[in-house]
Amino acid sequence: MELINIKDIDVANKKVFIRCDFNVPQDEFGNISDDRRIKSALTTIKYCLDNDCSIILASHLGRPKGEVVSKFSLKPVQKRLHTLLKQEVKLADDVVGEDAIGKAKDLKEGEVLLLENLRFEAGETKNDKDLAEKLASMADVYINDAFGVSHRAHSSVEGITEFFKEGEKAAGFLLTKEVTYFHKTMEKPVRPFVAIVGGSKVSGKLQALENLLPKVDKLIIGGGMAFTFLKARGYEIGKSLVEDDLLFDAHKIIDEAKKRGVKLYLPVDILCAQEFSADSMTINTTTMEIPKDWMGLDIGPASSIIFKEALHDAQTILWNGPMGVYEMEKFAKGSYKLSHQVAESHATKIIGGGDTADLVERAGDADEMTFISTGGGASLELLEGKMLPGVKPLVKV
Ligand code: AMP
Repeated sequence: MELINIKDIDVANKKVFIRCDFNVPQDEFGNISDDRRIKSALTTIKYCLDNDCSIILASHLGRPKGEVVSKFSLKPVQKRLHTLLKQEVKLADDVVGEDAIGKAKDLKEGEVLLLENLRFEAGETKNDKDLAEKLASMADVYINDAFGVSHRAHSSVEGITEFFKEGEKAAGFLLTKEVTYFHKTMEKPVRPFVAIVGGSKVSGKLQALENLLPKVDKLIIGGGMAFTFLKARGYEIGKSLVEDDLLFDAHKIIDEAKKRGVKLYLPVDILCAQEFSADSMTINTTTMEIPKDWMGLDIGPASSIIFKEALHDAQTILWNGPMGVYEMEKFAKGSYKLSHQVAESHATKIIGGGDTADLVERAGDADEMTFISTGGGASLELLEGKMLPGVKPLVKV
């Protein structure tokens, strides 16, 4: 699958609408605490500036639920864009109101306009056609560079594409990179291909596991979801997280892995806690000996050694989901160790999912990874083998 890239179409001197993902975290004073999402949109914006475009930027921020809520205004984003681009960035007072439409109309070559939060409009998340048409009316060209929302059929992501003809719509550099990395990895991985799947629940990642099985050589399962697999294998798992209704599916995955010759790794030891708390008493036990009243909140040191062994010959590693409750230091060791091991590997290393990206960053390993996906939900849907609604209209035929 190949996307129509912004370089494939003629944008010179045109009015370009770029759907960005500026949904950045803010502290209690409204200061942006992590501007990576803004920085990663700069390549496409600068390319448009170099091509003498007039640029309309649009994004959502938080969940204002169709109402104008001042704490979700894009004003802080405007300020940060101004700092990063070193030029004036105008901010519209609304999304498709008189102010936005007027400012978009008057926009000159080399000027940048940021619309207010798209989700101030109730129609945005409903993929409302009228809203999509009004947004589209502002520009000659549509660029989607918002991978993080491309799994949502929203007006500014999907609906809007209907109002641009071929040659007038394309993917920005960030979206192209995200989708291309995933597809290349999934369709033509250099082998051995090892997938590491963790996180809280099997239910959230069942489809991803089913989609990965026919493609990978090894599958490492950790985190809370491992306990459903361990229970399916007949182990006592105490009070650990479990989804009893998915024991059958877990069995099926174990059987399917065996049939396909996929090496399936589960933790062999567990860091157990008496309660879900950073102050809890802990013990390390083998998976055979998890006490009835305790819960597993991280993998143990023996599992770390075995997972490292499994990774030693990997040429491609895809990782989604932590090995334990890494938010609490006491239960972060297994995830951090794995992060270091993945970082040290010479394989192509792809990190997907918000938690895993956060974890790898906290572990100080982010720079060693080949690619870190910016979108949690969207990258999971790609893992599940789904076509994203925001990507579909931009695929080359
Ligand atoms: P997910 O959103 O499914 O990727 O899950 C990420 C969450 O899984 C993180 O917030 C972790 O704290 C949580 N998690 C990982 N391991 C466990 C575990 N053993 N028990 C409970 N939660 C876990």
